[in-house]
Amino acid sequence: MSKVKSFAGGTHPPGNKEHSSGAAVVRLPAPEVVTVPLCQHLGAPSKPVVKPGDQVLKGSVIGEQNGFISLPTHSPVNGKVLRVENVPMPHMRSGPAVVIKTESEDGGEVYEPITDWEHADTSELVNRIREAGVCGMGGASFPTYVKLSPPEGVTIDTLIINGVECEPYLTADHRLMLERTQDLITGMNILASVLGVTDPVIGIEVNKPDAIKLLQEKGVKVVSLRVQYPQGAEKQLISAVTGRVVPAGGLPLNVGVVVQNVGTCVAVAEAVCSGMPSIRRITTVSGLGVNKPGNFDVCVGTPVSVLIEAAGGYQGEVKRLVSGGPMMGIAMFTDAAPVTKGTSGILALSPGEVRDVEEGPCIRCGKCVDVCPLNLVPCTIATASEFGKWEDAEKAGALNCMACGTCSYVCPAGRYLVQHIKRAQSEIRALAREREA
Ligand code: SF4
Ligand code: SF4
Repeated sequence: MSKVKSFAGGTHPPGNKEHSSGAAVVRLPAPEVVTVPLCQHLGAPSKPVVKPGDQVLKGSVIGEQNGFISLPTHSPVNGKVLRVENVPMPHMRSGPAVVIKTESEDGGEVYEPITDWEHADTSELVNRIREAGVCGMGGASFPTYVKLSPPEGVTIDTLIINGVECEPYLTADHRLMLERTQDLITGMNILASVLGVTDPVIGIEVNKPDAIKLLQEKGVKVVSLRVQYPQGAEKQLISAVTGRVVPAGGLPLNVGVVVQNVGTCVAVAEAVCSGMPSIRRITTVSGLGVNKPGNFDVCVGTPVSVLIEAAGGYQGEVKRLVSGGPMMGIAMFTDAAPVTKGTSGILALSPGEVRDVEEGPCIRCGKCVDVCPLNLVPCTIATASEFGKWEDAEKAGALNCMACGTCSYVCPAGRYLVQHIKRAQSEIRALAREREA
């Protein structure tokens, strides 16, 4: 194995991946009713193009792209539209969705496959990835085609495929690397071809030795990474793999790099080679609050309650239901919310798995500063936020925080650092919008 690489800062929360890492992916049929959100990607929600009573086909467009940072949304089933309405969402209070009564799951490959993609125009491939609604499957959900369209004058020389999955509990990407290996490699090669990169690499933490070995055996260049949170964050991954530093407020393309998740590669391969839009994803269900943690291949729009049932149902007291991992995930208030393209996991956490401390005063220990991978001073930003000093928070770099949660995790005083910093971010952005209006 090649030398293990890493980044500066970060922390080492317990992995808890053993609950589901050995569980092969189970494909679930579509539920009787799917609730398909129109805002599964970062950016503007797609605009509904169907109404109650319409018949829709699996893979057909039910919401059209609504701007540059946006994507179309497709139906995951053949069925009848019941409603277009606001529903509870895993990552926000509510959002618009198309509710469809499922009739069948046949067909769905609505686009002509581009089988000879090695000789296809770059623009044809990028357009296919756009029209198939592919977005980042690691959780950020940024439209993939936008990352493949760098501004004029910007040269991309490095493509890093993110197989890190550093969030505790989550194992969906690990299983995908083991079970969808050829699709992953095909998708990676399509992305490399679009970007003109000849030597793509996959970054994987060393706690997935079977995935590292398998991909190396298939001739893929793998960079082995230390198990360290947040190794999978774009800037930290770029630093670990290439030694390049993305400037504060900058993007990976500023240092010639594009990062794409392993699940995104599989979605790209399906969109290009099978003509299949992005309508399913693999997600982990774990935590001691479910009977049988596992990994499931589900269509978007499946209620979280269906996934919980597939994982053997709840057991004991569930202290917190989380969409995503425990570090960056969002607490959910209902399991009626649907799975989206960005749902990397659902955690039902028992009381013993949740750190439940009352927030105390800062004791100036400096631990949050030591671990911040972006060299911020979290305690200073949080204090400025608590006192409503938005300008001070901005000067201290609040907008650069990626909300990785590392500072809150290590704080012995239980300070709600991320919440305070996120509050500052939204106030600073609101003030900026007011100034522009
Ligand atoms: S300040 Fe932001 S980036 Fe730094 S550790 Fe805290 S959450 Fe992560
Ligand atoms: S880790 Fe907590 S107690 Fe220590 S300096 Fe940071 S905010 Fe204060």
